[in-house]
Amino acid sequence: MEVDFDDVARAHERIKGEAHRTPVLTSATVDALTGATVFFKPENLQRMGAFKFRGAYNALSQLSPEQKRMGVVAFSSGNHAQAVALSGKLLGVPATIVMPTDAPQVKLAATRGYGAEVVSYDASNEDRQKIAEKLAAERGLTVIPPFDHPHILAGQGTAAKELIEDTGPLDILLVPCGGGGLLSGCAIAAKHLSPGCRVIGVEPAAGDDGLRSFRAGKLVSIGLPDTIADGARTMSLGKLTFALIRKHVDDFVTVTDAEILKWMFFLWERMKIVVEPTGMLAASALLEGKISAKGKRVGVVLSGGNVDLKWAASRLRA
Ligand SMILES: *Cc1c(COP(=O)(O)O)cnc(C)c1O
Repeated sequence: MEVDFDDVARAHERIKGEAHRTPVLTSATVDALTGATVFFKPENLQRMGAFKFRGAYNALSQLSPEQKRMGVVAFSSGNHAQAVALSGKLLGVPATIVMPTDAPQVKLAATRGYGAEVVSYDASNEDRQKIAEKLAAERGLTVIPPFDHPHILAGQGTAAKELIEDTGPLDILLVPCGGGGLLSGCAIAAKHLSPGCRVIGVEPAAGDDGLRSFRAGKLVSIGLPDTIADGARTMSLGKLTFALIRKHVDDFVTVTDAEILKWMFFLWERMKIVVEPTGMLAASALLEGKISAKGKRVGVVLSGGNVDLKWAASRLRA
């Protein structure tokens, strides 16, 4: 299925009344450090703390009245769960969420807080998709996938649409990548609004399936990645997201967990913003010098801010 800029624009109309138009943040320190003009899109300030609200609300608002009445089910390690739970609450759609038993505590608590029913599973030996599909069949629920769906990724693309509307044309756009919903949606928006913009996906080094797929020209799967970037612990891109990434994305780079942590604390201190490890992927790549950005206008998506502060503090080295 083809997804184009019109889909992103229509998604934007649907979500405008409920999603925040997050600001654009700049930092003289970051500009000096990189030699670039950097524009951050802080989706950690989005409702429920991540861009995923955009896609989930766009998807749920297009369900039929019957589908809305029966309810939805989603499987997620966290932010998609909260996004579906909150969207369900706002639209009056009952939500059931399949979450791993080891999901971050903040994310579990928030999902329940939005009124969703949480069904736990063991990520090491159970298949969350199968559990969700079984629940869907038994209870007549609609499955809301985390990334590989045209309504989800069109919603995610509204983040880049807003950013470029606010900044004007960019030379480079850096986007975190897990299953590729955010990256494919943002690439569609960026190539339409700023055709010369290079769009680069950023993955954790331990979860570089997207980079491998991109280089190989075919979908490559890896084992469950071991990384602190829990929102990008995906084993492969989706069929649809991969097709769109091949069409619209220019390159991939990776960052290590140590690099993510270093720059996560840097943004806390210098910009006073809390960004979760997955949300730091794109910023870390830029700050670590993995992209030649000197003299360029660079957009950076900070994709979310739901980090357990006790955990983060425990990773701070004196
Ligand atoms: C889900 C998520 C991602 C990855 O998004 P995909 O659409 O799966 O690529 C990145 N950052 C955060 C904070 C997320 O929650």
